[in-house]
Amino acid sequence: MRADGLSLDSFRKFVEWWSYHLLEPLTPPKLHLATAAAIEHHNAVIASFFLDQELLKGVRTGELRRLFLWHFAEEIEHKETVFKLLQSISRSWTLRALGLLFSFSELRRKPMTKTIEKFAAGMVFTLVSASSIWLIMHRYIYQKPVEVHMKLPEKVFSPDYFTARQRFREIVTTAGGRLETIPLEANGPSGEGLGIDIAWFGAANPRSVLLHSSGLHGVEGFAGSAIQLQLLNDLPTLPKDAALIVAHVLNPYGMAWLRRFNENNVDLNRNFLGDEPYAGAPDTYANLDSFLNPQSPPTMDLYTLRAGWLVLRHGMPALKVAVVGGQYEYPKGLFFGGKRLEEVSEKYQAFLAQRLTSVERLVAIDVHTGIGNYREDILMVEPKDYAVLRPMFGERVVPPDPEKSDSYPVRGALNTMFARAMPKAKVFALTQEFGTYSATKVLHALREENRWHYYGAGTLDHPAKRILKETFCPQDETWRESVLKRGRELLNQALLNLQ
Ligand SMILES: [Zn+2]
Repeated sequence: MRADGLSLDSFRKFVEWWSYHLLEPLTPPKLHLATAAAIEHHNAVIASFFLDQELLKGVRTGELRRLFLWHFAEEIEHKETVFKLLQSISRSWTLRALGLLFSFSELRRKPMTKTIEKFAAGMVFTLVSASSIWLIMHRYIYQKPVEVHMKLPEKVFSPDYFTARQRFREIVTTAGGRLETIPLEANGPSGEGLGIDIAWFGAANPRSVLLHSSGLHGVEGFAGSAIQLQLLNDLPTLPKDAALIVAHVLNPYGMAWLRRFNENNVDLNRNFLGDEPYAGAPDTYANLDSFLNPQSPPTMDLYTLRAGWLVLRHGMPALKVAVVGGQYEYPKGLFFGGKRLEEVSEKYQAFLAQRLTSVERLVAIDVHTGIGNYREDILMVEPKDYAVLRPMFGERVVPPDPEKSDSYPVRGALNTMFARAMPKAKVFALTQEFGTYSATKVLHALREENRWHYYGAGTLDHPAKRILKETFCPQDETWRESVLKRGRELLNQALLNLQ
């Protein structure tokens, strides 16, 4: 800094003289502590501001960015430690206020002891400025929790796709990962470009890979993205010859537009058919088309009653297979698997096929929401993998049989693609599903959003969009905490199974 002409020497000399020669001998230890707590508050507020506003992205070098990040976290921790110590010694508000007052005097530049008048004027200035700032700030400094108290869910559950994307890209760089983007043709609601961001950590030519993906079903991506941000915040140690690959939001169009499907209304988890023809629909789906896909904007239409009647008539298991198993004949209908391999599917498969040629062992986790019991998760697998994966990952692995669990077989699932992309690798593929609301409620939310998309304006400001988001990512903090906890646990389990 000195070389850049930014010397702080005179300022430091003054602060040292003022603090250690003048104030310290004259004031009791409790007040020293209160002053230190207040100074750390200023630092923590500045640190939180920088982190909140994401100002670090302007810092050019990764090393400097990491230094700042570490330093800000450290400042917030200092505040926490000193303030707790103060609280344990005295809870006096007068002491706190005095500490704050003295902390402001530390910020003043000019010594003011040449005459008693100047000293008095200085004290008045300090008092007036400090107390007015105090009035404004005491709420924020002492009552409002700073960043360190901000619960983890708030930091990793993003309000929209673009926030999630920016957070992901930043944290990959901060964590020292390699970031690649698969660009896509579709655009966001304000014409934004979209792409799949993929982070790569560890070996460049790995023998084993832990592949974690989110957002294949667009709006379901809020939970998966949160798990990924949490993971990158605290990277695990990888075994030798291993890589961690994190694919952030495979269907960015869906997440940006709050849809479960992509720009062609395709359910991407029904789109990986391989050599199977893109044709057919369950018989029951055809009978239910007018109920599932009314050709009108969202209205009240006795949905619950009719859904209840259908459940009674067909039974939930049979209904589930018919409705959500995948159909290839109703392009504007729910759970449409497409007429060809979609752009996203093709590019993602090609990326894996080209980049993972050295892989012998792949553990893949794809995160979804909307199936199962609220706040709980199940691991859905392909029928042929159940016997292998159940002993490896425990009882959360459920049989893909709607009579026995919330899971059901689908056509063209993502998990069937890995073996085609990496024919030489041993593949262990899991779909981690977090339960939200009841199956009929989830179906209703999808149905209304689809009506708004095709027969309304399709804009983001409609209740159908807000309800769909809540249906796949409840605001409830306990739900979000459970997602993060179980998301992390499964990743740890997967790491253990990498070798
Ligand atoms: Zn899903």
